[in-house]
Amino acid sequence: MEQKKYWDPEIETAPREKIRQIQLEKIKKLVDRVYKDTNFYKRRLDAAGIKPEDIRTLEDFQKIPPTRYLEDFVATPVGEKVAVPMEKVVNIISTSGTLSGSPQPVMISDADIEVWTDSFARFAVMYGIKKGDIFQMLFPFPAIWRGFTRAGATLVPFTAQTFLMDNAIKLMNNVRPSGILAAPALFLMMDRRAAELGIDMKKIGIRTVILGGESWSNTYREKMEREWGAKFYDVYGLVEIGHPFGECFEQSGMHCWEDLFFTEIVDPETEKVLGPGEPGEIILTSLWRDAMPLLRYRTGDVAQWLEDKPCGCGRTLAKISRIKGRTGHMVKAGGAKIFPVDVEEVIQKFPELTGEYQIVLTKPGIQDMLEVKAEYRPEVTELETLKKKLADGLEEATKVKSKVETVPYGTLAPAGGWKAQRIVKTY
Ligand SMILES: [Zn+2]
Repeated sequence: MEQKKYWDPEIETAPREKIRQIQLEKIKKLVDRVYKDTNFYKRRLDAAGIKPEDIRTLEDFQKIPPTRYLEDFVATPVGEKVAVPMEKVVNIISTSGTLSGSPQPVMISDADIEVWTDSFARFAVMYGIKKGDIFQMLFPFPAIWRGFTRAGATLVPFTAQTFLMDNAIKLMNNVRPSGILAAPALFLMMDRRAAELGIDMKKIGIRTVILGGESWSNTYREKMEREWGAKFYDVYGLVEIGHPFGECFEQSGMHCWEDLFFTEIVDPETEKVLGPGEPGEIILTSLWRDAMPLLRYRTGDVAQWLEDKPCGCGRTLAKISRIKGRTGHMVKAGGAKIFPVDVEEVIQKFPELTGEYQIVLTKPGIQDMLEVKAEYRPEVTELETLKKKLADGLEEATKVKSKVETVPYGTLAPAGGWKAQRIVKTY
């Protein structure tokens, strides 16, 4: 069967002006609706002295104060945030609760499920998935599964694996899917566990791996693509908002589904709106969320706009960089803003290193230089040359003077968990 190039060509290749018009129309309706239907936004807009009819341009919309996660979203009772009668809520899903200490309920209506599903049919086509492809899902998220089947794929849903990793691996070995979707850490764990079970996941015939939920470096991608003979793609989203970004086959930044989401990048301290090339916090407004809509939601994730130029895939939708990290993980050194992933890109290029590293902060605020501890492999003896090469590599990548300390294998390995601590303070 001929492969579709776009799921929704009219939107995905629309002129920029048309996209902005669609955004403005949807935003006006959204503000109007949340003002009428939720106590939460009625109160916030009144406090800011803004009426729905004041929103005439996209810039007007940006005057509405952003919705912060802990102070606004978590602090507001569910009943004040829901914009539909409770009988229209068909699912209650939840955030991970990492920051607030407990999972936060998020209400979903049938209308929400429909758009969410369709957006994943778009993703599926963008990742080159076609009828007959078998896809194994390691995300417990039915709207994503349905989107892939809508685009023609045959699904092995998360539930088929009875929630046990060994079963998921054995099933994969039997079914031989052409693609999988997972979180990066889970994917790595599975790869390791499969080897213990005597199964080589690289030989199953997987051509497409979609990883979302955590940031991972381009150097890691290059290494995995070489080893696996598969394409590795990024996808970004959050439960409260939906999934606004993903990579096309060009793998140079993520396209934004701009008719479905209004995306802004702002300075996390001043909330000033930033343009291309300036990293800042992503603020998202879902233009379709029905049951629990959020205006200008601060994600805590950092990325930057890419220059507005035509993409090789033919999509006209704007592109954003891959996620660099969380706002709390931004290190200011010299005149630069550096994230662990920037350091990781360099570290991964050195076969002498294990990949474990830490950024060391020696004082509050702006650091004089970038200080990095990196772990070397047991067989390495030439440490002075290695330190020099690594410092040069870091300086070239970050444009900041760098100081490197090398530490023996096993020094930085995460204790009691697999989530590494990448930033440490000595003050
Ligand atoms: Zn593209």
